[in-house]
Amino acid sequence: MKPLKLYQGQTPSPKDATRDAVSVLRRGLLPIVEIFYSLQGEGSRTGQATVFVRVAGCSLACSFCDTDFRVRREMIVAEIVAEVRGYNCPWVCLTGGEPTLYAEVGALCDALHDAGHRLQIETNGMFPRPDWRLDHITVSPKESEGGTLAPWYFENAAEFKYVIDDETDLARALANPCAGKPDSPLLFLQPNALNPAAVQLCISAVQAHPNRLRLSLQTHKLLNIP
Ligand code: SF4
Repeated sequence: MKPLKLYQGQTPSPKDATRDAVSVLRRGLLPIVEIFYSLQGEGSRTGQATVFVRVAGCSLACSFCDTDFRVRREMIVAEIVAEVRGYNCPWVCLTGGEPTLYAEVGALCDALHDAGHRLQIETNGMFPRPDWRLDHITVSPKESEGGTLAPWYFENAAEFKYVIDDETDLARALANPCAGKPDSPLLFLQPNALNPAAVQLCISAVQAHPNRLRLSLQTHKLLNIP
């Protein structure tokens, strides 16, 4: 087997990581970065114990991205399910990178469901996969970084989570057509890197739009847990 390319430094290259992930998929395996057990730190599931399965590669290259999404493990679906089951936790969060980049991940969703798990997915919303069995869809749109948002998510997401740096980001969140409609997905503002100015901007916006917006903090970073 040809060894995967090793990257230098801390910042992954999305293009290279995705190319390596696709080469793993072609061999019938899933490209995984890591599987770990922690608490969900963001959005409406904050505080719930969750097994995270991080899929390698991404469709974007956001300037603020702090996620290492290089391929670390090449696994078959049964191996992933067995490892997840070892934590004896009902909730699993499929994250990335961008897990909806690859149709093959759908088989993992179905297998985790068949094993009795509830499934959250975190996506940038570019590639809807309506045929996957999912219980909680979290969309973090990256329009400021060239991302697009598939309209399917306006009907099917549980929540949208906007990373906020400034007023322009806030305007994008408020332009989401779901904001404030009854029974529509929740709309969270998440200050980027807990930057104090962004935190204050988010607090003021939530106070100004109490029926439309909520605050999401990266509580796992505050607690220094993975
Ligand atoms: S979509 Fe998410 S994982 Fe991908 S580059 Fe942007 S912040 Fe990073």
